[in-house]
Amino acid sequence: MQSLCKATFTTLFCLCFCLQAKCQTGQANSLSLIPDSTQSSQDNTSLTYNQRTNQAAILSNDSNALRAAGNLQEARAKLEQASLLDPNQNSAIVHSNLGLTLLQIGQIDLARTEFFKALSFNSDMPAALYSIASSYFQQRNVEQAKYYLQDFLNKYPNAETSDAARRMLVSLQNVTRLNDDPNASDYYASAVTNRITIWPPEKQPLTVFIESGKHVDGYQPSFKDDLMTAFDKWMDACNHQLSWQLTSKKKKADIVCHWASDKHNFQEPDGAELGQTLVRSLSDPKRGNRYFIKKVDMILCTKNLDGITVLNDEQVDYLCLHEIGHALGIKSHSSNSNDVMFFMMKNPVSANLSDRDKATILRLYSY
Ligand SMILES: [Zn+2]
Repeated sequence: MQSLCKATFTTLFCLCFCLQAKCQTGQANSLSLIPDSTQSSQDNTSLTYNQRTNQAAILSNDSNALRAAGNLQEARAKLEQASLLDPNQNSAIVHSNLGLTLLQIGQIDLARTEFFKALSFNSDMPAALYSIASSYFQQRNVEQAKYYLQDFLNKYPNAETSDAARRMLVSLQNVTRLNDDPNASDYYASAVTNRITIWPPEKQPLTVFIESGKHVDGYQPSFKDDLMTAFDKWMDACNHQLSWQLTSKKKKADIVCHWASDKHNFQEPDGAELGQTLVRSLSDPKRGNRYFIKKVDMILCTKNLDGITVLNDEQVDYLCLHEIGHALGIKSHSSNSNDVMFFMMKNPVSANLSDRDKATILRLYSY
């Protein structure tokens, strides 16, 4: 007996790297003065070790107050002044605090240099090592981030930030090699990855069920608007080859969107992702071996990886755009950090589709 149709049901998971790298932005250390009977001097070069230690402590503590008041540039100036007093008992702390301040200012490269200097004075500073790792992560330097995260975890498996480090490392280890040319006009090859998977042309408009987030910790009513706006942006991008509408019928919906405050329902909850999209598709040999999407389930986190900080609207907007990209058939990730389909969340977040995002979805739906 011959089969009429050889249908294959496939499942595509996407555990997205829509994450925000958490750099160490904790409290700077306060320093105590040590007894010193030597006469003080204005000239750094003639100061004793203890005098330099005490002056560094005073400057560093002053900087903490400035930093707490949001006066980051003055805090930085104090710490740079303190760093001229090297070497002394407080040198490691001074450079670590300067690193934290520079991170807050957004000078990630300079901050990292300071953390390295801190470690050169005291090699046993978990926060400094973690900050180096997470700064590479934040800059999407995958190899360096992996190296320092592993180094951190080897040395400090039970540190306060070890769980966060472990999540980042798992995510980076899951990154498939991104082979597309970041300067090409689109990332179609990555989007398709071996076979085209799209919504069939007759399946319009796509029906979308958005689960209530009322009982989800961290959920804000504006998140639903962010999600709906993100759908609109993709529809605009593909010249309305696709359309969508809300439905109240969850079982019949083409795309079901859930909110979650944590990742316990994720397929791989140990990663650093903030979203998950599950795409079920069916092959149709009569239509050129394309795969047609039947159903999508999407989970969107309301909170950051720390489980405490609620995502802001820009971040949710970005997360929604990224996950919807997968829901529409973009399988893999872009290698260009300007694209919404890049594997990490931009910092600062800019929730707009790039020209490459738009060109890719247009090409995918040029049926
Ligand atoms: Zn993704």
